Amino acid sequence: MTNPGWADWAAVEKVDPDLARAVMDEVHRENTKLELIASENFSSPAVLAALGTPLTNKYAEGYPGRRYYGGCEFVDVAENLARDRAKKLFGAEHVNVQPHAGAQANVAAYFAFLEPGDTVMGMSLAHGGHLTHGSPVSFSGRLFNFVPYGVRQDDELIDLDEVRAIATRERPKMIVAGYSAYSRIWDFKAFRAIADDVGALLLVDAAHFIGLVAGGVHPNPLEHADIVTCTTHKTLRGPRGAMIMCTEEHAKAIDKSVFPGWQGGPLMHSIAAKAVAFAEAATDEFATYSGQVVANARALAGSLTSEGLRIVSGGTDNHLMLVDLRPAGVTGKDAEARLDEVGITVNKNAIPYDPAKPFVASGIRLGTPALTTCGMKEPEIEEVGGLIARALKDGSDTTTREVRAQVAALTDRFRPYPDVT
Ligand SMILES: *Cc1c(COP(=O)(O)O)cnc(C)c1O
Repeated sequence: MTNPGWADWAAVEKVDPDLARAVMDEVHRENTKLELIASENFSSPAVLAALGTPLTNKYAEGYPGRRYYGGCEFVDVAENLARDRAKKLFGAEHVNVQPHAGAQANVAAYFAFLEPGDTVMGMSLAHGGHLTHGSPVSFSGRLFNFVPYGVRQDDELIDLDEVRAIATRERPKMIVAGYSAYSRIWDFKAFRAIADDVGALLLVDAAHFIGLVAGGVHPNPLEHADIVTCTTHKTLRGPRGAMIMCTEEHAKAIDKSVFPGWQGGPLMHSIAAKAVAFAEAATDEFATYSGQVVANARALAGSLTSEGLRIVSGGTDNHLMLVDLRPAGVTGKDAEARLDEVGITVNKNAIPYDPAKPFVASGIRLGTPALTTCGMKEPEIEEVGGLIARALKDGSDTTTREVRAQVAALTDRFRPYPDVT
């Protein structure tokens, strides 16, 4: 096919040079800094191209074959491709690919089954859960009676005895499993058993680790959950967005809750890009990539530990880790700023039982999906671990200069968009 011409960057530069400059500055930043934010990744040129198509023009309220607008025959093809590929990839009976983002997927999934005021259990934000799992500043904590569970103080692992005790006492209608900052494999089977004992639905929020499931290096929550929500832009490496997977039994309730319950017209260009990402995620290359993400996380945790930093729970089984910075005598807030100064991008993060305020925090969260996309393997990741430790321990100008130079040498070899200069 000839180049259709709408993906015409020169046109953006002509119409809006200010915006064009901001975009190119951002691409330059992505190419020249080490990206360790655990929820970020770099989507492929094919995904980006699908996002920039005229499918953004189409109103398609409803679902394939049952739309409220005419002219949907081709966007139906796109949405069916996305749905069928996701079903096959994850072994799902039903998939809704319309949620605009992870938070929207959760709100739709909650309201498919719950009424305001209902009791729900979710992991506490302070122990690694997500805002939408009951934080009082989110709709979830304001509309539902969320009862939090967390990790034990001694080994920093989920306390299943506590989860069972709370469930027995509170009789929740739903138990939400899943995290934004927990580095261990979740025991979905144990959560299923607890949910069954108290007659609760089990929702797994797989936003973070779903790409590892696609790559076959992480247990599949669909084997145990009634509903699985996830994003498509984190480890799955697709466009910004989300989806909901469930058993056939819940398909109608989920679809109704997404549209017309919580959203209007679906973002068809984004759904097209999800289809492309699911095709990519079904390849052997993606399986190899996912295995490398986990191997790199393990290598990074090992190198930081050997530098005297402490990894929460002692290590990682997935793509991320929380680093307790107290041994280095630096706060999460200061570490984030210090690492930014040397070209390493991370986020400060509370650690379980953190004595510091959330905006200061005693830890940082690190993840390997983005750097693995750039082609890094264990030797480079261990070098990155060494640079992080060095920058945190020594704030001198000499060290800043030297670490910056080593970061530049790495990003010269490993960058997401090498063809863009
Ligand atoms: C990232 C995340 C979300 C929210 O995704 P958005 O696309 O940012 O709305 C929901 N749940 C969990 C566990 C997450 O990590």
